[in-house]
Amino acid sequence: MQVYKVEVVSKKQLTDKIYELNVRLVNSSNLEFKAGQCVGFHVLPETEDPALQTKEKRLYSLTSLPEHGNELSFCVDITPMGPGSKLVINAKPGDQFNLEGPYGGFVVSDRSKDLLFLATGAGIAPFRSMIKDLLKSGFDKKITLLFGVRSEDDAFYHEEFSKLAEEYSNFTFIPMLSQPKADWKGERGRITKYIEENSSSLLGSVAYICGSPQMIKDTRSLLISKGWGVRDVKIEIFH
Ligand SMILES: Cc1cc2nc3c(=O)[nH]c(=O)nc-3n(C[C@H](O)[C@H](O)[C@H](O)COP(=O)(O)OP(=O)(O)OC[C@H]3O[C@@H](n4cnc5c(N)ncnc54)[C@H](O)[C@@H]3O)c2cc1C
Repeated sequence: MQVYKVEVVSKKQLTDKIYELNVRLVNSSNLEFKAGQCVGFHVLPETEDPALQTKEKRLYSLTSLPEHGNELSFCVDITPMGPGSKLVINAKPGDQFNLEGPYGGFVVSDRSKDLLFLATGAGIAPFRSMIKDLLKSGFDKKITLLFGVRSEDDAFYHEEFSKLAEEYSNFTFIPMLSQPKADWKGERGRITKYIEENSSSLLGSVAYICGSPQMIKDTRSLLISKGWGVRDVKIEIFH
C-alpha cells in the first residue's frame, strides 16, 4: 500500500467533538481514490520504527472529492481520545504526517437505482464525498440523505447539504435531531423512526449506512424487515 506524506493546511472545530482536517500531499501529485474510501493515518511519530508506524494506523474516510486528489479533507470524532484523535486535536498548519491507502469497498457501484444514505455523527464522512461526487457527475436517480445527531449543538454540514438540496432537485436532505430544542422545525427522533414511518416511499433504493455499530445493526435489521434485500443494504462500521 502506498504511503503519502501530507501537510496540514487547516483544521476547523465543527462541534464539541467533531473536527474537520484539511491536508495536502507533499512530494506526490495525487492520491487516487473512489468516493467513500478511507485512508490510514500513521499515528506514531516518524522517528519510530517504520514497520511499527504502518501497524499503528487509524482509519478515516475521505470527505473530499476524488477529483481533488492533492487536497484531502476529513471529519473526525475525537471522542475515543486515542492517538488518532490526539493527532487531529494537536494538528497545526504546516505539521506533517504519513497516511496510506486508499482502503475500502464502501463505494457506489450500481448507478441504476435510487440511493438512500443513512448516517449518524462522523458517519457522514464518506457520504459527503459520495453525494457530491454523484451529483457533480450527473447521477440522475433520487438521492436521500438522513443525517442524525443529538441536538442543534451537534449539527454540522447542515448548511452545505441544504444548499446542495436547493441546487439539485434529485437530492433530498433530511436532518434529524434526537434531542432538539422546542423550536426545531425539522424531523425529530432517530433515523429508525423516520424509516418506520416512510419506508414505502424509500423502498427500491440501495441503502448505505455509516455510523456506530449499534446504529448500523438497528438500521440494517429494520430496512431488511421492511423489504430491502440483504445485498441492497451496504454498511461501513466505524469501530
Ligand atoms: C473504515 C473506517 C472508516 C472510519 N472513518 C472515520 C472517520 O471518517 N471519522 C471518524 O471520526 N472515525 C472514523 N473511523 C473510526 C476511527 O478509525 C476510530 O474511531 C479510531 O480508532 C479512533 O482512533 P483513536 O486513536 O482516537 O482511538 P483508539 O486508540 O482507536 O481507541 C481509544 C478507545 O476508544 C474506543 N473507540 C474506538 N473507536 C471509537 C468510536 N468510533 N467511538 C467511541 N469509542 C471508540 C476504543 O475501543 C478504545 O477503547 C473509521 C473506522 C473505520 C473502520
